[in-house]
Amino acid sequence: MSKVFTKPFTQQEPVPSAAISRITEILATGRLHRYNTIKGEISDASMLEKEFAEWQGTQYCLATTSGGQAMQISLRAAGVKPGTKVLANAYTLAPVPGAIHATGGIPVFVDIDDNWHTDINDLEEKAKDSGAQYFMLSHMRGHIANMERIVAVCKKYSITLIEDCAHTMGAKWKGKRSGNFGDIACFSTQTYKHLNSGEGGFITTDNPEFAARAIVNSGSYMLYGSHGAIPSENIFKKVRLESPNCSARLDNIRAAILRAQLPLLEENILRWQSLYEALEEGFRAIPGLKVVKREPCEQFVGSSIQFQASGIREDNIPLLVKRCENRGVQLKWFGNPEPTAFTSKYDTWQYLGEIADLPNTDRVLSKTCDMRVPLTFSKEDCFDIIEIIADEVHKLTNKYS
Ligand SMILES: *Cc1c(COP(=O)(O)O)cnc(C)c1O
Repeated sequence: MSKVFTKPFTQQEPVPSAAISRITEILATGRLHRYNTIKGEISDASMLEKEFAEWQGTQYCLATTSGGQAMQISLRAAGVKPGTKVLANAYTLAPVPGAIHATGGIPVFVDIDDNWHTDINDLEEKAKDSGAQYFMLSHMRGHIANMERIVAVCKKYSITLIEDCAHTMGAKWKGKRSGNFGDIACFSTQTYKHLNSGEGGFITTDNPEFAARAIVNSGSYMLYGSHGAIPSENIFKKVRLESPNCSARLDNIRAAILRAQLPLLEENILRWQSLYEALEEGFRAIPGLKVVKREPCEQFVGSSIQFQASGIREDNIPLLVKRCENRGVQLKWFGNPEPTAFTSKYDTWQYLGEIADLPNTDRVLSKTCDMRVPLTFSKEDCFDIIEIIADEVHKLTNKYS
């Protein structure tokens, strides 16, 4: 009998019990809305913003209903208007082009390199050719490009850098937190990310005007003064009447869920690292798979792992995915021309109209497989997964020759 893996790849850990007792208290008060406070009370949403800003090391923070909303609001707050061009790396998740599109912005896609990073030469070329003044940089699947070079290109062309840190919450590059390289950063606390409130997100920035606009954009009415990590009143006075209310506030229940998880994040990052290392070593030893060696300066969070199925014919990759699935191992293939589950490719976002081919993105993604690494897995689970994948890859690489 061949081995079958039985744990689900989408199972997160339970929410800490501290959250459960706090939620019960909040429910008993009925004051779920962040602005529904009694005299002297600070809402959980505001406290969360203060705590996350401190943890991230930024001056300002806004909690939002989702990562996608955080991106939309960041773009608006930074000045994107209908017709504004926005550079974006082509390897990303569907909410990224969705957020750009929702603001009326026009994405200008940038190619990626063999390590799934933004191709910085192509970034510079596209910046020059398009004249775009914004770059939405998605640290897709936690891969962090050379941030010194990215920031230098942005400076050279006066580009506002917005970081999508949905997969890099807690990651660092040369010791500096992902999200603190650009002008404004977005995070997601959707169930599959590093904090889990079902849905939710954050914006962080040190730019007072961006912060004030983002807060008013999120639907603060004129109650922004109660937020947890905000610029001074005179900044709000300047922007409050020119910023639309887009209703994307976080509620106190989800804020309480996140407040209980934030203190565990550093420890969880270490747990992810140990699972990732086990998987990386195992995958690297499988003939036919290529696992990218990551730069030591990239202190990523190993909440997912990618490999190139380089020894398998492209038309056999769906078979690999299927056979692994049959044995309980869930892989995603980013080269699939047909979008499935959470994955889609730039050429399937038809609402954007014609998108010029990105040859490297196509080539690299054609063999890219991805696997989630939930913290409910143990190292032994990782060894079982490695064994199953090795077995199935072996059958298909033999077929290749
Ligand atoms: C999840 C995700 C988002 C959006 O987050 P939501 O909270 O689901 O809206 C944005 N970018 C990337 C790369 C993501 O994975």
